[in-house]
Amino acid sequence: MADEVRKLVIIGSGPSGYTAAVYAARANLSPLVYAGYQYGGQLMLTTDVENYPGFEHGIMGPDLMGNMRAQAQRFGAELRDTEVTEVDFSRRPFKITAGKEITYAEAVIVSTGASALWLDVPGEETYRGFGVSSCATCDGAFFRNRKIVVVGGGDVALEEANFLTRFASDLTIIHRRDTLRGSKAMQDRAFANKKISFMWDTVVEEVLGEKNANGIAKTTGLRVKNVKTGEEQVVPTDALFVAIGHKPNTEIFAGKLPLDERGYAVAVDPEGTASAIEGVFVAGDVRDYRYRQAITAAGEGCKAAMDAERWLEEHGVEVDLEGEVYAGMQVEPGAPAYETPHLPGVPVHARSGS
Ligand code: NDP
Repeated sequence: MADEVRKLVIIGSGPSGYTAAVYAARANLSPLVYAGYQYGGQLMLTTDVENYPGFEHGIMGPDLMGNMRAQAQRFGAELRDTEVTEVDFSRRPFKITAGKEITYAEAVIVSTGASALWLDVPGEETYRGFGVSSCATCDGAFFRNRKIVVVGGGDVALEEANFLTRFASDLTIIHRRDTLRGSKAMQDRAFANKKISFMWDTVVEEVLGEKNANGIAKTTGLRVKNVKTGEEQVVPTDALFVAIGHKPNTEIFAGKLPLDERGYAVAVDPEGTASAIEGVFVAGDVRDYRYRQAITAAGEGCKAAMDAERWLEEHGVEVDLEGEVYAGMQVEPGAPAYETPHLPGVPVHARSGS
């Protein structure tokens, strides 16, 4: 494929990337989205999403992402399900390499999200896919009426544990401290779930397994240690779900984009999305370790598209203002003011967009 120059390239396809794509496509920026081989981000690995506004009865994570993807495509975003392997932000237009394909971009939105952390103990990698998983949605159903262990004490561990009790005969949450990090609501739900028991102050030291009669590997247990007493024991289990947090997906940006000490991308103004490299914008979990919600990531994707569009316009790149993303915020000249019934005395102007 010949090298091409795009107005806007979006790297990443979680809620932030897709939302940026929807906004940018509606603004006629013809964005190209490098969505990655496993497009859709972390919500592809979740079950019910009950707190994304607009879905009264909740929606499955993969369905929500499928909807966002279709919405972006509907407005003309071009999606490529390949991984970006290298970026060069040292000069404009920026150079983006995806394997053998090179694309140049006047502006870039980095929305590559974050990935699950692993325990990094012996056996974990050996039995990954054979009982060891970080994705309850993907793998939970393989463990119907089996013993399951979840490691972690945060909201994700508690959420996954609750979900996994749909399948498990019994489930143990192993946590390295004696208090949970997750929200009170999630804690209450886990404590009330009769299938869940807790093993406190305990760390996993090794994942144990064997080959079954067909020569296929399977997890059989965990060697664990109580960090207070030093006592070791083997916990029999058929599955280990690791839920101990995430790391930002910024490997390809090391030395190319300002990152903090934890590897998260940094915006110059914490409330905006511009990075220290003019024309490069950062949005979603790749720069947010505090909120990490689908809705906050989507909000940042929206901000990034608006910031990119403004920046492109300021830098002389032709931007079609017909479909400008923030047209709805502009007060039409001469629009009559009227009073809202809810807030008498507060004038509201007719808006030019929806
Ligand atoms: P968190 O960082 O909140 O929790 C990670 C957990 O893993 C902590 O309990 C931590 O222990 C433990 N841990 C970390 N490293 C290790 C290790 N090497 N060995 C053993 N245990 C370890 O991450 P989550 O992924 O749970 O949540 C991420 C964010 O998403 C949070 O802000 C959370 O609130 C949010 N979230 C919100 C939801 C909602 O509101 N519906 C649903 C899911 C997530 P320790 O406590 O000792 O540090």
